[in-house]
Amino acid sequence: MFEQTGIPERDMIIEKFPPVERIDRGPVAIVECYKRIPCNPCETACRFNAIRVGEDINNIPVTDHEACTGCKVCISKCPGLAIMAVDGSKSKETVEISLPYEFLPLPQKGDQVSALDRAGNFVARVRVVSVLNPKSFDRTPVITIEADRKHMYDIRNIRTEEH
Ligand code: SF4
Ligand code: SF4
Repeated sequence: MFEQTGIPERDMIIEKFPPVERIDRGPVAIVECYKRIPCNPCETACRFNAIRVGEDINNIPVTDHEACTGCKVCISKCPGLAIMAVDGSKSKETVEISLPYEFLPLPQKGDQVSALDRAGNFVARVRVVSVLNPKSFDRTPVITIEADRKHMYDIRNIRTEEH
């Protein structure tokens, strides 16, 4: 299925996530790279050595979720938009999900937007809790939304009213 559609199956997605106990301690990167490709900006972007590709640049990156501080820098540096972050420390009912977003206009903090799954299907209406867009992110802003925990493994994109 993944080979035909490029859309990972649920067990593939869950395998990339750390245990819920880690998510509940604070933000953590989820590196959704599933194929061997010659690429490693994620590794060089992380000053905490939490993402390792290793000597063979084709290796699939491995994430050390304990070393990850959830700084979100790698989200902006991945050319494949393959990295997100999840933070379950704020509430028992919701999680904050941080996603790369390259469309304009950017949503604003407090906006309601549509959350989409990996196939582009609507999941839920969610609230934007922050928009990170410093120069160092080089035109790949990181949008953080708050979502019901039951959608933690589903949400992978957002759509504003304009798109
Ligand atoms: S979020 Fe920050 S600490 Fe975590 S893997 Fe990405 S760059 Fe490294
Ligand atoms: S930078 Fe992105 S696409 Fe490249 S290896 Fe890392 S996660 Fe995969």
